[in-house]
Order: sequence, then C-alpha cells, then structure tokens
Amino acid sequence: APFPIFLVGKVQRGFGRGGKDLGCPTANLPDESITPMSSVANTGVYYGYAQVVTPATEGFKPEDVEVLPMVMSLGWNPFYKNEKLTAEIHIMHDFEKDFYGYEMRAVVLGYIRPELDYVSRAISEALIEDIEIDKRVALNCLERSEYRKYSKDPHFEDQC
Ligand code: ADP
Ligand code: MG
Repeated sequence: APFPIFLVGKVQRGFGRGGKDLGCPTANLPDESITPMSSVANTGVYYGYAQVVTPATEGFKPEDVEVLPMVMSLGWNPFYKNEKLTAEIHIMHDFEKDFYGYEMRAVVLGYIRPELDYVSRAISEALIEDIEIDKRVALNCLERSEYRKYSKDPHFEDQC
C-alpha cells in the first residue's frame, strides 16, 4: 500500500462549489502539493489527519492548530476538462474563521470509497448523508494505534 502519503501546501480558494452550504467546507491544496497522490490510482474519498499552521494571534484558538482527523476527496476537476486532479480536505473541527493562505499539513492513511454519481439523486441530501458516513468511517479507522501514531509524526508542527 502507498500509505502513509504526506502532503503540505498553502490553502487555496476553491470554486465555491457549495462545500460550506452543505456544512462541509473543503480546503484545497495547490497542484504541486498533491503530486504525492499520483501514487494512488483511485479517485474518491480518503481519510487521515490534517493540521493548519496558523499564528496564535489573528483570532485562532489553540485547538485550531492541533492535528485533527480529516476526510479528503480526490477527483478530476470538471473546470479543467477533467484533466486536473484536485484534493479537498474537510477537517473534523469547528473553525470560527477561514484559513485561506495558511499552510496545511496532512497525512493520508487510507481509502474509504470511490466517487459517487449524484446526478440522478436528490443531490444535497444524498451527499450530506454520505459525508456523515465517511466521517464515521474515518474516525473508526483512526482509532487504531497504528494510525493514531501518525498524528504525532514529525511531519506535523510542534504543538505547544
Ligand atoms: P472553497 O471553494 O474556497 O474551497 P469551501 O466552501 O469549500 O470553499 O470552504 C473551504 C474553506 O473554508 C477552507 O479553505 C477554509 O479556509 C475554511 N474552513 C473552515 N472550516 C473548515 C473545515 N472544518 N475544514 C476545511 N476547511 C474549513
Ligand atoms: Mg472547497
């Protein structure tokens, strides 16, 4: 297996495809940051840990800089004729403010499921339901000590 896969980059603006509207904001990493994902063939949903590196000032809480569970969607971007791979990370934590421009570090530990085609379904309801399932699956998987040890990996910034 190719895991763990380590990613790092500055959070970019996405296309506002309704992440927040669905209660599921997804932070985008720039292209060069997701090259390590080329080692996996599958698009779909992954799980792991992520950390946003923000200064203690500027209104962020100490919890905001912790290493937190995440789910990541990897897919071909329709805005680029499906020729560009994009990775969007939803961190399972309540941030009181956006963190565009800050560094995000992540470790991808496993695969949950392929992308589903929502075209013929009641899109938002189906999506929300699936995202909730993904989050539960991710949290269950991350319970295992072999996975949990990666939250302490030196890839992440020291938390004081
Ligand atoms: P965009 O299209 O710009 O990615 P989203 O609606 O997907 O817009 O919102 C993503 C942004 O929301 C992130 O870049 C980040 O600044 C912010 N955000 C707030 N809470 C979270 C969270 N729990 N996980 C990921 N991003 C979050
Ligand atoms: Mg997004």
